[in-house]
Amino acid sequence: MKESKERIMERAEEAVLHTYNRYPVVLDRGEGVYLYDTEGKKYLDFAAGIAVQALGYHYPGYDEALKEQVDRLLHTSNLYYNVPAMEAAGKLVKASGMSKVFFTNSGTEAIEGAIKAVRKYAYEKDGRDDHEIIAMNHSFHGRSMGALSVTGNEKYQAPFRPLIGGIRFADFNDLESVRAQVTDRTCGVILETIQGEGGIYPATEEFLKGVKALCEERDILLILDEIQCGMGRSGHMFAWQEYGVKPNVMTCAKAMGCGVPVGAFLLDEKTAGASLVPGDHGTTYGGNPFACAAVSKVLDIFEEDAIVDHVREIGSYLEERLDHLVETCDCIRCRRGKGLMQGLVIGGRSAGEIVLKSLDKGLLVITAGSDVVRLVPPLVIEREHVDEMLEKFRAALDA
Ligand SMILES: *Cc1c(COP(=O)(O)O)cnc(C)c1O
Repeated sequence: MKESKERIMERAEEAVLHTYNRYPVVLDRGEGVYLYDTEGKKYLDFAAGIAVQALGYHYPGYDEALKEQVDRLLHTSNLYYNVPAMEAAGKLVKASGMSKVFFTNSGTEAIEGAIKAVRKYAYEKDGRDDHEIIAMNHSFHGRSMGALSVTGNEKYQAPFRPLIGGIRFADFNDLESVRAQVTDRTCGVILETIQGEGGIYPATEEFLKGVKALCEERDILLILDEIQCGMGRSGHMFAWQEYGVKPNVMTCAKAMGCGVPVGAFLLDEKTAGASLVPGDHGTTYGGNPFACAAVSKVLDIFEEDAIVDHVREIGSYLEERLDHLVETCDCIRCRRGKGLMQGLVIGGRSAGEIVLKSLDKGLLVITAGSDVVRLVPPLVIEREHVDEMLEKFRAALDA
């Protein structure tokens, strides 16, 4: 007999370390932009495994490419060359205009590499060992010690001090606050082009351009974290492309493998030419043939099926419908976001409660902070899915 949902949840809690308060649902399979739980209940997925499943579930050709690679070769280590890594790196370089790629297994690891790259660049320049990085308040870059150190969230940081040294914080979208933190030791500025976990705040053009100019003036490297907002989600392949502000270092992960755990940091020519060299950084799994076959296939699909153009079209429809919702609903203060990365700011009730009620109505959405409902659906949703989402969301609000 099949185990009940309650029994599965209970057994999971017995063995899995309790670091998440999970929603009471056991997901079992996906199809298109829908998920099904073990009891057969269907959910419209506007969470996409936290902005990962850009192509939804079982996108034509994706599974086949992975299966083919499983039959061929899973892993080699970085001591040897492999074809999928070569192909995936080439496609990423082409899509971003960056110069070189280092593959990782996660977003957090991409951040670690980015931090090391900017420190090494500065070290090569002046040989000092006290370089500083400016990070943003309300940012999120991951949970390892380095990534946590640049994550401007007191609650996440407090229990784990001491963190890595040389980090200063400024306010996102406040250029003067960044300028005020610059010293002769500053080697990098790190920020999300669109802040995700912090509540879906797109960078203003003035801010991003101002930070870039400041960085260029002082030979400080700009790291743009595109882990959540990249890979087409904003309506551009990488969110910075809309602003015309190219970073020196970019991090990418989440949707890059559409479900296969993989990340990367990319360096521009200047940084690649004067930072990490053999012996400075490494990974056993990073860039393995299986993960890279996924990345390679995802990038092919993005190009062949014009996924980013689709995001722009469907994103503006979503914005239009959400703006109407904001106007007609007292408990939603405003909408923030770009493309298919949207946040609804909730007033007078908790975002978590609305997420739970949505779940009940067969809709998966997530929170970003305590007062924002975050919508990060697969990039392949159609208008009918936007309409269905709004219907279910309204029902959840009314429940
Ligand atoms: C999710 C996320 C990370 C961390 O990525 P992991 O794959 O969870 O390690 C870093 N930065 C941003 C902006 C993210 O959204």
